[in-house]
Amino acid sequence: MLVRHACEPALATRRVLVVGVGGLGSPAALALAQAGIGTLGLVDPDPIEISNLHRQLLYESADVGRPKVAVAAERLRRLAPGLRVETWCERFGPGHVALLRGFDCLVDGTDTVAAKFVLNDAALAARVPLVHAGVLGFVAQLMTVVPGASACYRCVFEEPPPPEETPSCQEAGVLGPVVALAGAFQAAEAVRLLVGTTPAWTNRLLRIDAWTGSWRTVPLAPNPRCTACTAIAEHESANAGRSDVP
Ligand SMILES: [Zn+2]
Repeated sequence: MLVRHACEPALATRRVLVVGVGGLGSPAALALAQAGIGTLGLVDPDPIEISNLHRQLLYESADVGRPKVAVAAERLRRLAPGLRVETWCERFGPGHVALLRGFDCLVDGTDTVAAKFVLNDAALAARVPLVHAGVLGFVAQLMTVVPGASACYRCVFEEPPPPEETPSCQEAGVLGPVVALAGAFQAAEAVRLLVGTTPAWTNRLLRIDAWTGSWRTVPLAPNPRCTACTAIAEHESANAGRSDVP
């Protein structure tokens, strides 16, 4: 039985796109379905592997080899029969900006730094809020990007480091409960955005260390050298100029 709460009527018409339905995306999608979200979009190109099962809560051993988005859609529809689920069994890229414009919020469930830059830039281009999370080992970090109103991922990290310097979650390992925690926090932040409450992690980076049992927030500010934020500011300025022409 789903948990009912005051936010649910406001969420029933809202659409959230979850990119990456793995360690982060599974708990985020579960929590959003249980919260009463109207539509979940799921994007992931990968099949389920046996090594995924310890941290990807939507799947079990009998699912190995099947597309993650197909199995996730089945489980989520069973959990929340009123939920609409749309799936794309493909890798999210810059060409998905138009797709993203059909959603109210983007949840980052990807597991590489390069993919997180792609999502950030797409969220800014589409003017759709992004709830970012990343996990490596015992450490999780979260931040929320409201395009044009807060620091973005590129404001903070500027450029992707060389691939050899950034092991993916698959290579470096992650602790299942840490991604479950981060994914659940992403769902809570998405709900805050969708009901119009001030998000918790705009202009703040939350860092949780499950090894030391500590967490801290780091204040952030938009970076005037950020190429992604500058691009959308210039685009909006150009559009404003055109609208002045009779
Ligand atoms: Zn920026």
